[in-house]
Amino acid sequence: MKTLFLALSIVSLLVADAYASEAKHEASHEVHWNYDAHGPAHWGEFGETCQAGKAQSPINIITKETRGIDQTDILTLRESVKTKASIADNGHAIQVNIDNGGKVNVDGVDYTLVQFHFHGLSEEQINGKHSDLVAHMVHKSAFGSLLVIAVLFDEGKTSHPMVQTVIGNVGKTVEINPATLLPKDIEHYYHFMGSLTTPPCSENVKWYVLKEVQSVSKEQVTALRKFYDHNYRPVQPLNTRVVESK
Ligand SMILES: [Zn+2]
Repeated sequence: MKTLFLALSIVSLLVADAYASEAKHEASHEVHWNYDAHGPAHWGEFGETCQAGKAQSPINIITKETRGIDQTDILTLRESVKTKASIADNGHAIQVNIDNGGKVNVDGVDYTLVQFHFHGLSEEQINGKHSDLVAHMVHKSAFGSLLVIAVLFDEGKTSHPMVQTVIGNVGKTVEINPATLLPKDIEHYYHFMGSLTTPPCSENVKWYVLKEVQSVSKEQVTALRKFYDHNYRPVQPLNTRVVESK
């Protein structure tokens, strides 16, 4: 019995070791996407849709080419909740992971806030112009479909309290109200169908870009760009899509 047990132990040790060395082998050869040598032009290697997709994000929104919002695309926000949030550097952006987010609703479907993160220039352009920063608030429905709200910031006279909370607490867990990231005017926005802006660039993501641009201080822009200053994907062709405006 003892011999059998010993034999089994040795076998399981060998198996465990084989797994460990396989994992190590994979890790040492794995190439990760980034914004430099493995940047957006190479993302087709990390996600086929990044290259083949026809409804990719971000886009340049040409305001005079937008049309009125469809009733079924109207966004209702109920983001105001108190929740724990862990603020982390995810390797591509500073990301705030939300424990128990509020909801937004489109056409009877609820989407829950799961995280928001920052890009060091806004990915989206309005009439060919970037904003200084953007926060993407990523929401998920019970069926797994995604909805992103883009909150734009330009360097201005006043600092932004929520941006300050994020900058001051990277690596920590804090209690926040995600609604305090939003501008006063949440009634006016652009809407289009798009994709994740990072590999695998999955499509069928509902995008809402709020029109009101908030102020952040120069110090805040500098502080966020110390982490990532060029983590934005270039704008993608609109193809047959039409942007709606409310
Ligand atoms: Zn993003």
